[in-house]
Amino acid sequence: MSTAYQATAEWARAQDVADPLRAFRDEFLIPPHEGRDSQYFCGNSLGLQPRAVRDAVAAELEDWGALAVEGHFKGRLPWMDYHEFVRDGLAEVVGALPSEVVAMNTLGVNLHLMMVSFYRPTPDRHAVLIEAGAFPTDRYAVESQIRYHGFSPALSLIELQPDEPNGTLSQTAIERALAEHGDRIALVLLPGVQYRTGQVFDLKAIVGLAHAQGCMVGFDLAHAVGNLPLSLHDSGADFAVWCSYKYLNAGPGAVGGAFVHERHAHTEHLPRFAGWWGHDKHSRFRMGPEFVPTPGADGWQISNPPILSLAPLRISLDIFHRAGMPRLREKSLHLTGYLEWLVQTQLGDLLESVTPRDPSRRGSQLSIRVLGGRERGRALFQYLLDRGIVGDWREPDVIRISPTPLYNRFEDCVAFAEAVRAWGQG
Ligand SMILES: *Cc1c(COP(=O)(O)O)cnc(C)c1O
Repeated sequence: MSTAYQATAEWARAQDVADPLRAFRDEFLIPPHEGRDSQYFCGNSLGLQPRAVRDAVAAELEDWGALAVEGHFKGRLPWMDYHEFVRDGLAEVVGALPSEVVAMNTLGVNLHLMMVSFYRPTPDRHAVLIEAGAFPTDRYAVESQIRYHGFSPALSLIELQPDEPNGTLSQTAIERALAEHGDRIALVLLPGVQYRTGQVFDLKAIVGLAHAQGCMVGFDLAHAVGNLPLSLHDSGADFAVWCSYKYLNAGPGAVGGAFVHERHAHTEHLPRFAGWWGHDKHSRFRMGPEFVPTPGADGWQISNPPILSLAPLRISLDIFHRAGMPRLREKSLHLTGYLEWLVQTQLGDLLESVTPRDPSRRGSQLSIRVLGGRERGRALFQYLLDRGIVGDWREPDVIRISPTPLYNRFEDCVAFAEAVRAWGQG
């Protein structure tokens, strides 16, 4: 495939015309820049707004105005069970049984709630294995949970150091850490896609290694959900959490999600931080004093769902359902493959990508480093932004560029390459 790539706008436009998913772009609002569409490569950070979101939110506002409390039962989409309207769509994008997923809270909150149940340290087995480059929330959450249980991060936090040249982690490093420390690790917590490098982790292989050592396994899928096809159920993971405002396009601060494997569906004895919405829905309104959890992921809900935040997620999941993760992945491989080819063959004197070159080890994101150091990197990032080419900057020296298959075009990738070239010559 790569030998067929060409670096011209004509070639890129021809790919866009032939793209079977091209109509999905029209379902999104593309931020304008000086009278034309910007090149938005930041769907890994905040996905674009589906056009249908405005009406979906307006409908809930209307029902609230017209029905007030009766909206719980008589709304067009009754609020009482509103989180159930996104269940099948969520199950589809993460590859889970519907009973294994729930939309609730936000990622960091869900991570804490999951650790309450699945990080159960004992004097012999109290450690948590994370990556040294973990996202701050993950590290803070884990360290605070360790302390909360009376242990100390100095003894109970085990960090995986990157062992590959660009700061990525080999499967061997994970194997080695589990072989060495497995019997004192209570929980393994790793990402689906690493936020800084764009590296994809092999969830099933990690679960196999960790479970063989008797550890629980959870995943932070912030950068994986909506980016890659996932098979959470088959991976065997104990739990997973994610946010919905990145590739899932559900809007700023959107309601997050959690997965709890079926094998934990009926473990009423598990400690958890409970609330009325996690109570068995058939007897919830008897308001009894004894907490009886709803079987499955629903049992971890605390509060009644945020309708205005779920409405955009419902719209977004409908788009994912119609496009289908396999087709999105297929386009994503071409689009990101093309961007990487441009970086390697046309811009190699200016840039390098630190994301794994093997397409099976990455999603849409390329993490790009500018040769010549951090200041040049900052300068290029700003130059691009000033021209409506939107990526994001991650310290210390990475520009993340994520062509997403729902709304990015091959033409966007050429525009990026041409702007970088112009900057290099300027
Ligand atoms: C984006 C992101 C978060 C954000 O957490 P919120 O609770 O939604 O603010 C957490 N972890 C990772 C790895 C992320 O990429």
